[in-house]
Amino acid sequence: MLMRSVSWDRTADVVVIGYGSAGPVAAITAAEHGAEVLILEKQRKAAHHTNTSMAGGSFITPVDAKSALDFMTALYRIGAGGISWTDRAVLRPFAEYLASDKEWIESRGGSFFLSPGPVDYLHLPGAAGIPKHRFKGLGVGLVRWLDGLVKAKGIPVLYEARATHLITNLRGRVIGVEAQVRQDGQERRLRIGASRGVVLAPGGFEYDEQAKLQYLRVYPTYSTGTEANTGDGLRMAMEVGAQLWHMNCLSAYMMFKFPDFPIAFSPDYLGRSHKRYAKGEEAIPIVSGHIIVDRDGKRFTSENLNGHAVYYELPYFDTHRLIYPRVPSYFIFDRRRLENGPLPSVTAGPTGPVRLYEWSADNSAELEKGWIKTADTVRGLARKIGVPADGLERTVRSFNRYCLRGVDPEFGRKPAGLIPLENPPYCAMALWPGTPATHGGPRRNGKGQILNADGDPIPGLYGAGELGCIYGMLYPGAGGHLAQCFASGRVVGDNVVKERGVIA
Ligand SMILES: Cc1cc2nc3c(=O)[nH]c(=O)nc-3n(C[C@H](O)[C@H](O)[C@H](O)COP(=O)(O)OP(=O)(O)OC[C@H]3O[C@@H](n4cnc5c(N)ncnc54)[C@H](O)[C@@H]3O)c2cc1C
Repeated sequence: MLMRSVSWDRTADVVVIGYGSAGPVAAITAAEHGAEVLILEKQRKAAHHTNTSMAGGSFITPVDAKSALDFMTALYRIGAGGISWTDRAVLRPFAEYLASDKEWIESRGGSFFLSPGPVDYLHLPGAAGIPKHRFKGLGVGLVRWLDGLVKAKGIPVLYEARATHLITNLRGRVIGVEAQVRQDGQERRLRIGASRGVVLAPGGFEYDEQAKLQYLRVYPTYSTGTEANTGDGLRMAMEVGAQLWHMNCLSAYMMFKFPDFPIAFSPDYLGRSHKRYAKGEEAIPIVSGHIIVDRDGKRFTSENLNGHAVYYELPYFDTHRLIYPRVPSYFIFDRRRLENGPLPSVTAGPTGPVRLYEWSADNSAELEKGWIKTADTVRGLARKIGVPADGLERTVRSFNRYCLRGVDPEFGRKPAGLIPLENPPYCAMALWPGTPATHGGPRRNGKGQILNADGDPIPGLYGAGELGCIYGMLYPGAGGHLAQCFASGRVVGDNVVKERGVIA
């Protein structure tokens, strides 16, 4: 929004939009350089929940910048032909910050425990040098610790302050923010000047239906994160001429979603897997079988899912029937899984520590709601979910035969998961395209500056966190996002304070 002259209601050196993790990290970093910072947060303080607070707390911790750079250089060539999803000139500084995130956090009182397993795509260069940790207290613990730091530094957070427009001067420099603020029960429009710069960190566009339809590879796409991430940042950035990138990229899941609850749930296919995470143990033996089928009742992938990428198998479109046969897909299991703990993850999302939904320990309440379909026979189950009965019965019969032989000739699933489906009731839950985090948004350079259509920085505008993050099509694996939120917040905090103060 171009303004010739503005009368400011308030000013700061740096105005940060969004109080998830990238926002506060940018604010803390800028404040440590001596800047006066103000954070705007659209939610009410009492109900504030973010993708960060709903996260499982996994955190990639590269042992050095070289491992991170080698890994991401290789990862971001995949699916991009001869070019790269993310420029090396951007990846290089980020790799350095990613490698020092853990030290930055620990030196400020945050703490981790070691998480089993490294990043995904272990065969890529550098992957072996990227262990994972978990933040103590998971996403909720991380937010509590960050909030403590923000308070200790005296950084004000204005809640119920929804940023609506970036304000630019005649030279195209971003000099402030217009926000819709609720104070003392009244709605007010505030204009807040930012002499050094504005940091856009309002999270992704998981609840912007138009943006998801226009930019993602398949619709609908649901989210396990906060309903506050409605794409405000995309609109604000586009209004001042930002170039977008990574728009069809995301942490690529399949999820449960029910019409009578706004947020999706991450499936826990194996049951009680939270135990191994919470205690840092090795994987417990798999005790129940399951398969994933399409709308024709056919398997289409190995159920040894690459959980952060499987979404990319869903956009197959049947041009004769004019349907997406894999939307929804179905998670098919039997009594053994039904009796093996809650069906969604209990370490993250609405059923994680934020407890936005209390899922019953024995799944009985959700059976009652009809969220889990059951039948005494496979044919009966097929009829309940509207899948061809012959197709599903054939698939289950073949799968059970593979289990007897211990070999899956169709998709090469590992023997540990080859447990037959033979204990009624047979159960089904729809699996929808879903994401905990979209990757798209305004394009950044290595200093975190947001770029215009020509690739030049928009003066005074920086980006951090999930919106327009450095990740392209593939996600490095659990822990990639929180680490990049810290890295990008720190990059931006270090650079925005170098800006010359301009307020008009
Ligand atoms: C269920 C779940 C599990 C996850 N698990 C992990 C994990 O274990 N490890 C990992 O690395 N990543 C994980 N992620 C991803 C990661 O949590 C997010 O990518 C990351 O936390 C995003 O942080 P952020 O600061 O960019 O945005 P958010 O944490 O989403 O915060 C954005 C904030 O901006 C506010 N906001 C939005 N619009 C405006 C506006 N117009 N004005 C003012 N404020 C605004 C929102 O209200 C919100 O408070 C998970 C995500 C989910 C949903």
